[in-house]
Amino acid sequence: MPCIDLHTHSNASDGTLTPRELIALARQEQVAAVALTDHDTTMGLPEAIEAGRELGVEVIPGCELSVDFPGGMMHVLGLWLPKHPRHLQKILQDLRNKRNTRNERMIAKLQAAGVGITSSEILKMAGDAAVGRPHIAQALVGKNIAVDFNDAFHRFIGPEGMAYVPKDKLSPKKAIAALREEEATVILAHPFSLGLSAEELEKEVAHLKSLGLDGIEAYYPEHSPELIRHCESLAERYDLLLSGGSDFHGAVKPDIHLGRGKDGLHVPYALLERMKKARRLKGQWVTESLL
Ligand code: AMP
Ligand code: FE
Ligand code: FE
Ligand code: ZN
Repeated sequence: MPCIDLHTHSNASDGTLTPRELIALARQEQVAAVALTDHDTTMGLPEAIEAGRELGVEVIPGCELSVDFPGGMMHVLGLWLPKHPRHLQKILQDLRNKRNTRNERMIAKLQAAGVGITSSEILKMAGDAAVGRPHIAQALVGKNIAVDFNDAFHRFIGPEGMAYVPKDKLSPKKAIAALREEEATVILAHPFSLGLSAEELEKEVAHLKSLGLDGIEAYYPEHSPELIRHCESLAERYDLLLSGGSDFHGAVKPDIHLGRGKDGLHVPYALLERMKKARRLKGQWVTESLL
């Protein structure tokens, strides 16, 4: 049974492969469908869609938004975005502007502590991408200031790091509404990162469902078999779709493989079929299977 991957990043945000390289890798690894879900940007979508057509990989255009959730990290994915989502574009631009301000504040903190990196070198390295902490980490590693990414996050830009600045985020309500306005299918990404107990997660999922959530990402490299079963049960009881993906970022997360995660991941094509069926019922557009 062919596998799919509904959570990936390109160098339009903090991944290392171009959208075309990502789709070429999917083809090579026999991943039948890929959702490109870059953080806060849809800039990579046109290239990914074109490459998908040429190479015979079904590309689901998406994005990933960070959402305000005190005490944990909440991300939502929007799948089946239009190539140029007009309403969402303003929100994404605003999020990218806030990212830039945040990055400059983190760089100023690093400079104040005598660490020699500048905004202009980070921007040059990132090109047109939505710039984030992985770009700063790359600069710190490149200059031998940090040994590796973990060290860069631990000592400098992670929550405990000396140059950390929290990110300005959308409320869950606003994020879900913005994605729904584009007729996207809205998925709660990697629920483990909320840091909740099973009961707390159930409450939160029920709340998000009331705000318009369509599904949850049950199949994810960091998820234990227990959490996967819990997500499956929540999906059943709250009438939610099941999703799954590797959160592939290329070379900056070298242990995560496209489609396979840490090798234990297998997201079946049937799950995508169920999502498409739900969309068709609502009169929403779907991608064409290229199998
Ligand atoms: P940002 O959106 O700028 O806050 O950056 C978040 C990104 O940093 C996420 O995509 C994570 O993949 C990455 N990240 C967070 N913590 C670490 C870590 N300890 N090591 C490597 N990457 C990390
Ligand atoms: Fe990322
Ligand atoms: Fe995420
Ligand atoms: Zn992601």
